Amino acid sequence: MSDDTDSWAKARADMVATQLKARGIADKRVLEAMGKIPRHLFVPEDMQPLAYDDGALPIGEGQTISQPYIVARMLELLSLKRRDRVLEVGTGSGYGAAVLGHLVERVVTMERLPHLARAARGRFSNLDMDNVTVITGDGTLGYPLKAPYDAILVSAGGPSVPKALTDQLAPGGRLMIPVGAAEFLQNLLLIERHGAELRTTVHEAVRFVPLIGEQGW
Ligand code: SAM
Repeated sequence: MSDDTDSWAKARADMVATQLKARGIADKRVLEAMGKIPRHLFVPEDMQPLAYDDGALPIGEGQTISQPYIVARMLELLSLKRRDRVLEVGTGSGYGAAVLGHLVERVVTMERLPHLARAARGRFSNLDMDNVTVITGDGTLGYPLKAPYDAILVSAGGPSVPKALTDQLAPGGRLMIPVGAAEFLQNLLLIERHGAELRTTVHEAVRFVPLIGEQGW
C-alpha cells in the first residue's frame, strides 16, 4: 500500500493494541485487517494526524468516519467468513468497506451522497482494491441486484430495522444496524435470519449519524 511509512504503521499497531485488543476485540482476522488498512488515507488531509486516535472524525458533508473500536466491534459481532457475500450501507470515507474488503472476497457498499461515493471509489482505486463496489443510492432499500447477503453492515443509525434489508438476508444471514428512537443515539442490533424467523440481540449504545432514506429517517 502506498504512503505507508513506519510512523503510520506504528500508529496503526498502537491503535490495534490499545483501542481494540485492550477493550476485548479478539477476532484475529479483524485485528489483522485493521492493522493493515491505512486509515490515514481515508480522512481529509488536515485530519491525518488524528487518523489513529480513539474517535470518529469529520469527513465532510456533515458525515463521519466511525471510531475504530466501533468498526471492530460491529465486524466481530458479524462473525464474517471469507466467502460471505456482504453489503455495507453508509460508505462514508470507504474505510469500513476497505476493512470488509480485507475480510471477505466481495463487498458491495452503498452511499447516498454522490460526492462521498466518488471519493471512496478513488481511494479503492488508489489502493488497488478491486473487490469493493460502490453504489450511489438509498441503502435503506438494500441492493437487490446482488442479494441475498450473508452479512449486512449498516453504519448509520435508523429509527427501525428496514424490512428491505432483512428481506435481502440469506438463510443464516446477519444484519448489524444501529437503531434508536432519537437521531444520533442508538443501540447496536444484531439480527439473524433462521428460516422465516428473525432473532434480534441488543448490544451497546452508540452514536451514529442518521440513516436517511425511504426506510430510515
Ligand atoms: N462506514 C463509513 C466509514 O468507514 O467512513 C462511516 C459511515 S458514516 C458514519 C455514515 C454514512 O452513511 C454517511 O456517509 C451517510 O451519508 C451515509 N448514509 C446515510 N443514510 C444512507 C442511506 N440511506 N444509504 C446510503 N448511505 C447512507
